[in-house]
Amino acid sequence: MNMQNQKTLIIKVEPTNPEEKKLKKAAEIIQKGGLVVFPTETVYGLGANALDREAVIKIFEAKGRPLDNPLIVHVSEMRMVKAIAEMNEVAEKLAKKFFPGPITLVVDKKEIIPPEVTAGLKTVAIRMPSHPIALKLIEVSGVPIAAPSANLAGKPSPTKAEHVIDDLYGKVDLIIDGGETKIGVESTVVDTTVHPVEILRPGGLPIEEIQKVVDVKIFDRKVEIPKSPGMKYRHYAPEAELIVLYGKRKDVVRKIREMSEELKEKGLRVGIVATKTNPYSGIDAEILELGETLEEIAKNLFSSLRELDKRGVDIIIAEGVEEKRLGIAIMNRLKKASGNRFYRV
Ligand code: AMP
Ligand code: MG
Repeated sequence: MNMQNQKTLIIKVEPTNPEEKKLKKAAEIIQKGGLVVFPTETVYGLGANALDREAVIKIFEAKGRPLDNPLIVHVSEMRMVKAIAEMNEVAEKLAKKFFPGPITLVVDKKEIIPPEVTAGLKTVAIRMPSHPIALKLIEVSGVPIAAPSANLAGKPSPTKAEHVIDDLYGKVDLIIDGGETKIGVESTVVDTTVHPVEILRPGGLPIEEIQKVVDVKIFDRKVEIPKSPGMKYRHYAPEAELIVLYGKRKDVVRKIREMSEELKEKGLRVGIVATKTNPYSGIDAEILELGETLEEIAKNLFSSLRELDKRGVDIIIAEGVEEKRLGIAIMNRLKKASGNRFYRV
């Protein structure tokens, strides 16, 4: 199916009890080699049949994603996992405990997975989402679905169908609107082929939960710093510049107030991403409240970055959070989105 220039179909599907008839239509598109965007409990995914290399290549084209960035393969049952991967003992243990859920396991792949999915690696990343729409779509399609986040490469991941429409309308065959996603940051990626297992990307499942089950090597923070100071690799990034300040709440608030005033005097429009808006009253800026708990903050993070772009701010200042539990994933996204403009006050 090549529908790149045709209209994208958008359907609303009930998130807790999805209508089978609607998902059958989506499954048909997957089976014919088309692209379907669907909600998961983390963020929206841009899916294609993981066993169809031409369909998989379309994912990279639609997103503008570099071909050397491998995709996650989504499954609905363990039988599907066995068909595409060699599960080791640790992977089995983690799958038993955390599937379905916001965790992705990197395991050795079987021949049936085309090299385009894994960027030529001998391993494949597998996830069983817990969202009823995602699970049902995979089940009805009858094939594993390769899916990265359904945003243009480099942009904040989509947590609502409208974000997907902004980025991918006209480039995919179907968008399933299942409302806002629950978690708001992507899955935790765990490499189970090394000993102890290694966290490749912190995400929706807190590392602390994984540590209760297996020994974990925490990813090397140093590799997250660009090799040369001028190199600004941005990912999850809004159009506006982003600066992240962290430290004692009181100091962060004072510094953000100060910076906003200075930036405003330079004629810039400032956006603030805060846990609470109260401390910023009286400031002339676009201020968005994420909430106080790590769960609320994770859920609202990407959508607030997109919202501030819509409001046309030039620069966004965000409050950092404590690096524990979901806070590790939140800070990882903020670091990358800011191109490492990340300062302790
Ligand atoms: P995204 O699809 O944008 O949510 O990103 C998928 C993440 O999974 C990226 O960080 C990939 O680098 C990672 N990933 C996918 N497959 C593999 C693999 N075989 N080995 C290591 N990392 C992987
Ligand atoms: Mg992504």
